[in-house]
Amino acid sequence: MPQRHHKFGEWLLRFELIAAASLQDTLQRQTEKGGYIGDLLIEAGLISAEVRDAILLLQKLLGSSTRLADLEIAPETLRKISPRVARDSSVIPMLQVDNWLVVAMSQGDDQDLIADLSSQTGLRIYPVAYRASDIQEAAQSAYDPRRAIQAGMEWIHDEMPDGDGPLLTFVGSGDAIGTGARNQTCLHLRTEEAAFLIDCGPTSLTGMKQLGLPTHQLDGILLTHAHGDHFAGVPFILLEQVELKRERPFWLMGTEAVLEIVKQWNRLAYGGLMDKLGFELRWLAIEHEPRSIPGTGIMVYPFAMHHQKERLCLGYQIHLPEEKIIAFTGDTAWNDNLELLSRDTDLLICECSFYEPKSDIRHLAYTELFEKRERLRSRHLILTHMGSEMLQKASNGEIEFDTAYDGLTVDLGGK
Ligand SMILES: [Zn+2]
Repeated sequence: MPQRHHKFGEWLLRFELIAAASLQDTLQRQTEKGGYIGDLLIEAGLISAEVRDAILLLQKLLGSSTRLADLEIAPETLRKISPRVARDSSVIPMLQVDNWLVVAMSQGDDQDLIADLSSQTGLRIYPVAYRASDIQEAAQSAYDPRRAIQAGMEWIHDEMPDGDGPLLTFVGSGDAIGTGARNQTCLHLRTEEAAFLIDCGPTSLTGMKQLGLPTHQLDGILLTHAHGDHFAGVPFILLEQVELKRERPFWLMGTEAVLEIVKQWNRLAYGGLMDKLGFELRWLAIEHEPRSIPGTGIMVYPFAMHHQKERLCLGYQIHLPEEKIIAFTGDTAWNDNLELLSRDTDLLICECSFYEPKSDIRHLAYTELFEKRERLRSRHLILTHMGSEMLQKASNGEIEFDTAYDGLTVDLGGK
């Protein structure tokens, strides 16, 4: 995944915590006379001693000789902190060292907030007290799309690769109850031929808008099973299409049972509206045979999973004309079809609700996946739908697979 990193100096600059000319002067002085940039910045009155001391302590803690000016933060880390938390709590991530995230915040002793940030980012939080007014300003700018664009910081929202793709974005990587303040299940897939969602939890439309994903480009929604955290967002997506005065058809693909439930759900949510959408809704049933996405060369192959007792639940392989194969398990307990589902895929998105298996609940668990990992033959495995114990273990660095977060985009065209 291509990433652009920003150095600490550039970082201070971007958030206007110090003026460009002052930073340049300081760097100039460092080049000429040497010395520690943190001290030079204090000397110039540009950062507080608290900030410098915190960084020094952190470096000591890590046994790292990293210089302040060379420390970096990945934009992906930024996106893990929800705009709401950043704005309302006035926190701003400053830099990342190993699995530590230095966060400037005006209330550095707020343990609940620190725990929240840790669970959102999967990193250990190192709070640095900063002037409340500065942080507020910076957080407002950084997470407000309009202000970010004005300030030349549109990369915060637009960093997602817009190259050749295909691009897969986790709009929602959370479990049913939004553990870790994550959105409920929703994947956004963009290819040359189509853009569609795979599952659509209630938070999907808001999540798309937070990430700046264009809602008018959606062609349809593919559904894995009939649990609310996977389908209940559908009426809002349709409402949005009405608002956008859509004319071209919109498709919904899933088992007969899911489609029937979604029909009822749409009607319960916005009954009258469903009769006069102004565009055609196409209901595409998929059960045991593969089916193509209308008007494209994209093929969807269903695999029966073990999840709801009374209903067929599906995992999917999605074959793209770009010769890439993506697989998604939906929700499931371990079953032999997972081997077939994962075979020869470029990306396997695997639910992992628990750390250890629970005999009475049909979900996947990490220890089981780890033990059977040789049987999952995908070139890239990413875990999603994680509960609290999984998020905790992931933040402690105890999970050997990649883990998803809201906003993570995978470029399947990349090498
Ligand atoms: Zn489920």
